Amino acid sequence: MRDFLLSDEDRAFRSEVRDFLARELVPRAPAIEIEEDWEAVRAAVRALGESGYLTLMFPDLYRGDLSKPGLTHAALLSEEAASVNYAFETTIATALSCAFPLYREAVPALRERYLAPIVEGREIGAICVTEPEAGSDTSAMSTRIEYDAERDEWSINGFKRYISNASVADVYIVYGISDPDVPAQRGMSAVAVPAGTPGLGFPRPYHLIGRRGCKVGEVEFRDCRVPGDHLLGERDKGFRIMLGMFNFERVILGGAGLGVARSAFELARRHAQRRVAYGRKLGSKQLIWDKIVEMSWRIDAAELLTYRAAKLFDAGTLTAKDLVKPASMAKLVATHTANVCADQTVQILGGDGLAKEFGRAEQIYRDARALTIVGGTSEMMRYLIASADLPELKPDL
Ligand SMILES: Cc1cc2nc3c(=O)[nH]c(=O)nc-3n(C[C@H](O)[C@H](O)[C@H](O)COP(=O)(O)OP(=O)(O)OC[C@H]3O[C@@H](n4cnc5c(N)ncnc54)[C@H](O)[C@@H]3O)c2cc1C
Repeated sequence: MRDFLLSDEDRAFRSEVRDFLARELVPRAPAIEIEEDWEAVRAAVRALGESGYLTLMFPDLYRGDLSKPGLTHAALLSEEAASVNYAFETTIATALSCAFPLYREAVPALRERYLAPIVEGREIGAICVTEPEAGSDTSAMSTRIEYDAERDEWSINGFKRYISNASVADVYIVYGISDPDVPAQRGMSAVAVPAGTPGLGFPRPYHLIGRRGCKVGEVEFRDCRVPGDHLLGERDKGFRIMLGMFNFERVILGGAGLGVARSAFELARRHAQRRVAYGRKLGSKQLIWDKIVEMSWRIDAAELLTYRAAKLFDAGTLTAKDLVKPASMAKLVATHTANVCADQTVQILGGDGLAKEFGRAEQIYRDARALTIVGGTSEMMRYLIASADLPELKPDL
């Protein structure tokens, strides 16, 4: 049943990616998790870029062997990377989230300057949406992006938080209000802000429960100025750009959830096959095999929803609006599955599930927790699904 939606070519790609990660990520994963070694992350990102994996979403930049590269392959990459180290996977997801609007919306010079280095793994990007008073409700953001016609510059003022790659990124894709007199949906713009721009600051790094090794923190903009051509797309059309990014980001997060779930499941399965209690293997006890069964069907369900959404996206036949429901379902189910599997695995491993000395179960448990919050919370995914299923009722928030 597994891989039901994947073609032979997709499966061959998965195994190629697995080999690549075994070479480039597996040896670096302990340094990323234990020493929070950012250089190890960067080296693995460089290897990813050199291998061409960061161009999977951009057909005219892709130079590999796949006949039709796309989100299916980006989700496979995400799944495989997250099964080794979820912190590292987040740098792939963020790179693609930065590259996507640059690819679709930037003028050629901007595209050349910022997109090429990101997809080649030479530079790192960050996406700045979330603010202290604007989390799920992105329309409440107060960061201002104002045009100075005399100098042909955009001036950015505001404060963002929970920004992945804050302080280490080479370019920041920033969303803010450019017309405060209309709702944010019609008055938001997006600009690219390079590192080193005067007025760009990083007040605090955050110390999270999991995802060790990747950077998350605050980003401040104080009359931060960028040239006029650093606008992405059209002025006041940033909300649409942001929504366009969410569909594919949620499928990638489905892949990440799946990878985390699968890595937990494998630990649980191996332990249940090996550990003896009361004279018999743990896995032969109903209270244990029932947990294995639950993980197994949840992983299959998450896999089907994730690759269904990816295939629908790649087919290009649905509108962005119609993709919202399958993408939200993939994110909702796969990230919940990751948490269920991480939790059940700790339970099956007993004390060994809590101690770093006995493997990765405790790390997976901590890492999984962010998945139902980042990229749109589970509550928001439910709201989006309800909005598609009950349009006449207009479910509110
Ligand atoms: C590790 C990590 C990395 C991140 N990286 C980035 C990044 O790179 N860039 C970026 O811009 N942001 C990033 N974020 C921010 C992330 O997108 C937000 O945390 C998320 O959107 C939720 O916003 P919030 O934390 O402000 O929570 P809130 O929006 O304040 O929500 C708090 C709780 O209330 C619930 N809730 C909110 N509104 C409703 C409602 N109407 N009805 C019912 N329940 C509701 C939510 O579902 C949640 O459970 C990151 C967050 C984390 C934890």
